[in-house]
Amino acid sequence: MNDQDREVKERYARTLRDRLPRVREVIAAAAARSGRDASAVRIVAVTKGHPVNAVPAVTEAGLRDLGENRVEELDNKMGLLGDIVVEDRDWAYPRDTRWHMIGHVQRRKAVLAARLASLIHSVDSFRLAGKLSRFGEAESRRVSVLVQINASGEATKGGFPVEGAVDAVGKVAELPGLRVRGLMTMAPFTGDEAVLRSTFARVRAVMEAAAVLPGVEGCELSMGMSNDYGIAVEEGSTMVRLGTTLLGPRP
Ligand SMILES: *Cc1c(COP(=O)(O)O)cnc(C)c1O
Repeated sequence: MNDQDREVKERYARTLRDRLPRVREVIAAAAARSGRDASAVRIVAVTKGHPVNAVPAVTEAGLRDLGENRVEELDNKMGLLGDIVVEDRDWAYPRDTRWHMIGHVQRRKAVLAARLASLIHSVDSFRLAGKLSRFGEAESRRVSVLVQINASGEATKGGFPVEGAVDAVGKVAELPGLRVRGLMTMAPFTGDEAVLRSTFARVRAVMEAAAVLPGVEGCELSMGMSNDYGIAVEEGSTMVRLGTTLLGPRP
């Protein structure tokens, strides 16, 4: 890291010192309201759009789950981080860092996404699921995924519609090269708390019904972003994907 890089990292470290305690409070309070412990909810720090030197600030703040929404950007950042790790004696890349792919994955990028990410949140079609599964089989492993549910019915959002979602999850879970660990959703962009709550609750209901299906090996619910994560946690989220509220606006 040169001085300029270090300055960027320090700026993100200050932002996190300001913001992370508040985020943890919101999560703890919301988890308590849903009868759970704060430890049941994982923060995925969404670094998309932020410079690579934000990443050391995030891991030094104790966050180990990082999210990107584009495969190219994830590939790029991981490459640059490799260089930082090799060069920089002041910063070690924690071994337990996990990258999450949270955005739509084009089928031609599926293999790269599966190589780079610990968990792909955004399996939104049978064709993508099939491609990931074939890769998993070829590598003699199972690719960890969440099935994305379009609970708002908005045409601009990806995912399987709620209607028929349990069957869809079952079909994805039958694929031999995948490990289905739960569901993900994106709520509509609205301040209407009732709409947000019912969206998250619908996805939780799908999870409850799908949990008993063969091949479904987890009950993770990736729900909640900066503007709605408190409600998402109250409705059972186990992973919140937070960009702006943690790291400030994307430059
Ligand atoms: C960008 C993004 C987020 C984080 O958004 P913020 O509003 O900045 O917290 C979460 N999930 C997905 C899928 C995203 O693309």
